[in-house]
Amino acid sequence: MKLSIITLGCKLNQAESDEIKNALKKLGHFFVPISSHADVAIIRACAVTMNASQTTRGLIRQAKKRGAYVIAGGCLENRDLPEIDYVAQTAGDIIKQIYVIARSETTKQSHVNSVNQGIASLSSEARNDKIVADRTRGLIKIQGGCNFNCTYCVIPHYRGKSKSVPAKEVIRKIIEAENRGINEITLTGVNICQYRAGITNLTSLLKNILKNTSIKRIRLGSLDPRLITAELIGVFKNPRLMPHWHLSLQSGSDSILKRMNRGYTTGHYLKIVNKLRKQYPLFSFTTDIIVGFPGETDKEFDETMAYVKVIGFSKVHVFPYSKRPNTPAGAMTQVHDKTKTERVKRLIKLSGVVARKYASKLKGKIRPVLFEQKKNGYWIGYSPEYILAKYRSNANLKNQINEIKIIPA
Ligand code: SF4
Repeated sequence: MKLSIITLGCKLNQAESDEIKNALKKLGHFFVPISSHADVAIIRACAVTMNASQTTRGLIRQAKKRGAYVIAGGCLENRDLPEIDYVAQTAGDIIKQIYVIARSETTKQSHVNSVNQGIASLSSEARNDKIVADRTRGLIKIQGGCNFNCTYCVIPHYRGKSKSVPAKEVIRKIIEAENRGINEITLTGVNICQYRAGITNLTSLLKNILKNTSIKRIRLGSLDPRLITAELIGVFKNPRLMPHWHLSLQSGSDSILKRMNRGYTTGHYLKIVNKLRKQYPLFSFTTDIIVGFPGETDKEFDETMAYVKVIGFSKVHVFPYSKRPNTPAGAMTQVHDKTKTERVKRLIKLSGVVARKYASKLKGKIRPVLFEQKKNGYWIGYSPEYILAKYRSNANLKNQINEIKIIPA
């Protein structure tokens, strides 16, 4: 059948969609853009902000208007939309439902066999509950769900409690990626610091990966400051682990972090940064910050602005607070939209200044860049510190790691 898959939101959602796509391709289905009138549209939703939920609803309606049978899954806020034909809880559900749509009496048995093969090609976690994915660009899901309750967050509601992929399955996925010529992987999940498979935690998983695979570069997805250990910091002395963390901050004000129920302070966060920069002075930190959290005063916002300068982030993703249903923060006193918009603009501007300052520290350094694609005559890729670099060359540098001298743009 002609299928479309649209994925909103985080890398984890994208990784999961890739696994669904790969499994369905193995069953002989093919994928077209949504505009090409697919028989079935699979919409993998995101509900992390009000905007994302609205976009999800728009896409579902658009797919239905084009005449597709609509399967919706992922973090789906509104399950009762009349345009949704089927709500899928798991990857296995999607494959089974596609089978139900595609089957015909004459081919029934071959479909039964092949659908079982398709589901078997998913990992054990995906078959039962969640989906484990790898991408051609090396995104490996190691964990899903979350045991915390940050007051603004709806994710635990959609993804449930933390559940980890067994270490041997992670290793198998990485070796598979290596065999496909992938040089760099990113371990991803909802909160990968909660990784726990038997006695294996995130640090021992990394040690296991370093020992049992030859993958050249390893990155981690978003990290939670409250669960960072000295052992995890120590293992990053290994040059195969890239000196860049996306260390979730959310606010640079301790009173707001408390209202968010984040379980750490700015002082604790700074200690982590200092320890990693003691090991490698150019260690790079990116982060997410929510602006206009309920009750955020001018003073609290100024604390965040000052803190961004203290850390010297290489990139800040700035999000205006978005009220989510059934969350404690949703019931708190809200900040006026106009104030939020002004603060977002100020923080984005500051983040640009801070990011350029960080990048200037790499000036004149020779760094190994993994080139991904060519645009306007330049090869583009990332340094170990996750700084985007471009290099003019007529040679084919795709998927090559080349040492180049960094000159800030
Ligand atoms: S750590 Fe907090 S923000 Fe992250 S998924 Fe869990 S509850 Fe949500």
